[in-house]
Amino acid sequence: MDSMWNLILVNKEHPLPKDFQVKLTTLPNGEAVDTRIYPALMQLLHAAEADGIALYVSCGHRSYQVQELLVDINIQNRIKRGLSEKEAVEYVKKLVAAPGESEHQLGLAVDFQADAAKSTSAEIYEWLALHAHMYGFILRYSEEKVDITGFRYEPWHFRYVGIEVAKVIYEKELCLEEYLEEKYGSKES
Ligand SMILES: [Zn+2]
Repeated sequence: MDSMWNLILVNKEHPLPKDFQVKLTTLPNGEAVDTRIYPALMQLLHAAEADGIALYVSCGHRSYQVQELLVDINIQNRIKRGLSEKEAVEYVKKLVAAPGESEHQLGLAVDFQADAAKSTSAEIYEWLALHAHMYGFILRYSEEKVDITGFRYEPWHFRYVGIEVAKVIYEKELCLEEYLEEKYGSKES
């Protein structure tokens, strides 16, 4: 269903195929996102600016191949710092999504970073936690839902689901997995 593109679930149990395709639009700073969320993202960025919050998108879309590279680089770094290969693989597994298991591959997830000269990370995370849903974005990996999402708390990572769904998720304090289960009765929907 075309209207369901915003609810595609990606996690460790629901990986994306290697060749997942999405039409991208590039932001002024070079990062790219799914063309369909570009207007909402620009609105969010402008609203933050108007509130004196200096943030930018440090990561938008990431391909399967780039995710693969990211995992490899992290593993190599850990090995350089003295871990065995097995230890390094285990360590990185907890921090970085495996290829196919990252929402960034969807083009619907963005990581925000503070423009350090003007705002602190704490300031931008607080603003995002309170306002992002108004533009259709949810805090995807909250502190309370680690057991369900399988990801550590990431106050910088937001996922587009659309304003209507974001509002429900925000108000009921759900994670996407819980929302889909509640709404469709099954995570497989
Ligand atoms: Zn992220």
